[in-house]
Amino acid sequence: MRVVVERTNKRLVQIKVQKDCVVVFAPWYMHIEKVRQTVSENLAWIKQKQQEFVAQRDAKIDSESEDKSQNVLSISKVFQGMQVLVGGEIFDVKPTLENKTFCKDNVVFVNKDAFDSKDGRLKALKSYLKRIGANYLSTEISAFGSKYSLCPKKIEIKQLVTWLRCCEPNNRFVCLDFRVVQLPMDLQQYVIAHAFSHFFRLGHGADFASVMENFIPHNKDIQQRLADYDFLLSV
Ligand SMILES: [Zn+2]
Repeated sequence: MRVVVERTNKRLVQIKVQKDCVVVFAPWYMHIEKVRQTVSENLAWIKQKQQEFVAQRDAKIDSESEDKSQNVLSISKVFQGMQVLVGGEIFDVKPTLENKTFCKDNVVFVNKDAFDSKDGRLKALKSYLKRIGANYLSTEISAFGSKYSLCPKKIEIKQLVTWLRCCEPNNRFVCLDFRVVQLPMDLQQYVIAHAFSHFFRLGHGADFASVMENFIPHNKDIQQRLADYDFLLSV
């Protein structure tokens, strides 16, 4: 059994059993012998947790081979903070002892204290989406601009009530809602193209549609599919 000791500023000892090792979070001042003793006192529990991992893995292999359609989007689960969309993919939300929200193997992990309540989960997921949205969307906007030799004067990723703010041509301003990062990639590109189209046209008339068409040809169905995701803006 591989044991990793992580020193913390907390006064409590925490043992986290992972698939291939055991991580012990121990106060920085605790003697290593005392840490060892704590591990051996909890050995039965650790062994049990490790067996659970093996059982879970076997169950997962069984269910994957039986049921491929297991991960189906449930809007009520999204509103409960038990599922989250990222890049159009469905992720289950599960608790972790780590403080930071992170994503691994199609699961978004939220700190267990936050995970215990619906509000806690939604709040943690929101700040996670804000964080990844700010990074990822800024990069995508810059890449789109480079592709068409268009340089925005300003990029802003924030919380809006719509997917984007439609700006005036001379502002050359791209302002998106952070939740655009949750959309499938082609819809993200569509929203970005919409923002860039306003560099040339104000409003949404026929001339605007033809600018959009230059960026993304035959975009009618994309436009309709985007409406299916509008619920994400009210989570
Ligand atoms: Zn617009």
